[in-house]
Amino acid sequence: MKLNIIPDKDGFFGAYGGQYISEELKEEFNRIEKAFLEAKNDSEFNKELDYLLKNYVGRPSPIYFAKNLSKKYGNNIYLKREDLNHTGAHKINHCLGEVLLAKRMGKKKVIAETGAGQHGVALATAAALLGLECDIYMGEVDVIKEKPNVDRMRILKANIISVKSGAKTLKEAVDEAFIAYMKDYKNTMYAIGSVVGPHPFPMIVEYFQSIVGTEAREQFIEQAGVLPDMVLACVGGGSNAIGLFNGFIEDNEVEIFGVEPLGKGEKAGQNAASITYGKDGILHGFKCKLLQDDKGNVLNAYSVASGLDYPGVGPKHCYLNEIKRVKYVTVNDVEAVNAFFELSETEGIIPALESSHAIAYAIKLSEKVKNKNILINLSGRGDKDLAFILENFSR
Ligand SMILES: *Cc1c(COP(=O)(O)O)cnc(C)c1O
Repeated sequence: MKLNIIPDKDGFFGAYGGQYISEELKEEFNRIEKAFLEAKNDSEFNKELDYLLKNYVGRPSPIYFAKNLSKKYGNNIYLKREDLNHTGAHKINHCLGEVLLAKRMGKKKVIAETGAGQHGVALATAAALLGLECDIYMGEVDVIKEKPNVDRMRILKANIISVKSGAKTLKEAVDEAFIAYMKDYKNTMYAIGSVVGPHPFPMIVEYFQSIVGTEAREQFIEQAGVLPDMVLACVGGGSNAIGLFNGFIEDNEVEIFGVEPLGKGEKAGQNAASITYGKDGILHGFKCKLLQDDKGNVLNAYSVASGLDYPGVGPKHCYLNEIKRVKYVTVNDVEAVNAFFELSETEGIIPALESSHAIAYAIKLSEKVKNKNILINLSGRGDKDLAFILENFSR
């Protein structure tokens, strides 16, 4: 199976993706696409990006054989250590790419939304480094809840715009960031936080995240001597997952699992498992599997891991689900929190609650399969989750 999937000329992966935006904005997005396609073939652009990934982010991130966890569960469990990157997660990979692209296009400012603040911190970091202004839209509820990340962004000189409409969380932040962007797109670049949004953003973010899978495939073969039997990653919008999956998508013998957040359960509004429970719909300018009620109203998404609670999901994941190349499965809050403690206690690695979903699924799989080589994307570290965990789940 040849699966180096790229979108068609209108930005669709099968039935998903596209550009559901105004004609005016389409023209601008076409300029961004053109600039991106030129940049990725430009040796100067790549030289700067490669230098920063190596010496600023600390790539390549290692693959670590989790010996204690492996012994306990009867499988060989390996972790791709994106938690060791500067700023603590995979998001810096695409933020650097997006800000370099914005700079190349002569933009003065980047605009983005953030939920838990992880994307905001990574973007503010890249903007500080590369000398661009940075406006971050964040729901008022999240501004209060995620104070440590808000403090980081302020120190990095980002402007935080506290959004007071609707439920005052991520969805409203995206809505308002988009309105602000449309008023000033000539001088600014929308720097989206995952493989979502109108074409060409899913393609651009995927490109910058694919380094994860490229490195991982080579490292895995070097350490284990074979390809993994199974590859796992958590799926919010889907950027860390697609980055890792791309390294193995053409290896038919590798089983691939995308782990969605089941939150408190399968009832509407209690989870953020968009592929598992969503129906085709349009949100924020693209078509995807979308959590919605019978009338087509977008549901609030919920997960204990705020980086996963988006009601939509990247278009390529919807397509990979449809062609059955990737299996999308779920893990609930309790299972994720248990995995958070399990990895901390057995390996001395505190994972992000998002990444804990992927670890939890490997543990679940271990009830059924033994002696398999399993590779998990450890998308980020759990420092940001400590206060929340101690308050709600301390043992
Ligand atoms: C944001 C985030 C995610 C979810 O985003 P994806 O685009 O689905 O990767 C996962 N893990 C961590 C650590 C994050 O910060």
